Amino acid sequence: MSESKLATYINITTNRTHPRRNKIDTVTPHCYVGQVSAQRGVDGFMKTSRAASCQYVIGYDGQIGQSVSEADRAWTSGGTDKYGNAIRVNGISGGDNDHRAITIEIASDSFHPYKITAQAYEALIKLFVDICQRNNIPKLRWEADKTLVGKPAQQNVTVHRWFANKACPGDYIYNELPNIVKEVNKRLKGEPEDMTQAETERLIQTIVPTLIKNTVPGLINAALAEQISTRQNQPPDSWAQNIIALAREMGIADGSRPRDYITRQEAVQLAFNAKDAFTAALLDNDAAAYSEDARKWATDNGLVQGIGTFEDGTKNYAWESPVSREQMVTLLYRLEQLNRGDF
Ligand SMILES: [Zn+2]
Repeated sequence: MSESKLATYINITTNRTHPRRNKIDTVTPHCYVGQVSAQRGVDGFMKTSRAASCQYVIGYDGQIGQSVSEADRAWTSGGTDKYGNAIRVNGISGGDNDHRAITIEIASDSFHPYKITAQAYEALIKLFVDICQRNNIPKLRWEADKTLVGKPAQQNVTVHRWFANKACPGDYIYNELPNIVKEVNKRLKGEPEDMTQAETERLIQTIVPTLIKNTVPGLINAALAEQISTRQNQPPDSWAQNIIALAREMGIADGSRPRDYITRQEAVQLAFNAKDAFTAALLDNDAAAYSEDARKWATDNGLVQGIGTFEDGTKNYAWESPVSREQMVTLLYRLEQLNRGDF
């Protein structure tokens, strides 16, 4: 015999029979009729005049309180007819029921169908699982059949309405019992729990927006990247091919991604490359054929001496580059010296 560790408030009443007569093999849920806290519910059973109690009270917020030890019989499920006689099912009274049952009062609305909160609902499932595990009840059985009273191997969940002229545990809990029992048995078998409505709402409200926030930009980037990649892989139009080849040859652009957009910095880099390329073109020693005799005469006679040498040792005369004023007078001066025969 043990007590539930799920109880966070304990106040044991004298409204009990010590010890219980039978081993625990049944559970009996009741509606408290009123959205009370566990503490208020438990304290309510302290009044001896009330002559009522239960093992556990589940508050509207899911907190669990204890009023009677599991070792004792709580005074919960009894009822009498109009002659004051105990109502019996298969010869079994509500009092007899409580000798073999753990009774639980659950905070509920005080009106039909005596609905309970989602927190109380979840706490009830947890408490049922705990009771079954500690009392070697392998699974809960609920057939909604009062003729099975006293046959816990076939039905080990009972309800107050069978032993009293009451609606207890209220239609809400009564109609939910198949779902509650199913969930309890699932957890007893160690199967993963179904998400509660509160958990589902939390998921939708918090996790889903985060998921969208984190994945949507990634998806957009991936789509853009694919679009750019598709565009990049298309060949240039035929009219542009010569220009691209020239730009590559002059070292202005490498000719890759001909259909891609360029950024501002790429445009500036392109202009910078072009400036250098044009300067280099004037300084590459190329020359037209018409000036060949003149160039030979000028170099043979030292009129022009070049602006330096290439790596292979040949002189660079920069034939296409402009002549400055000082270069011009130097040329004229050398010509005059040549005419005088000073060379
Ligand atoms: Zn009841």
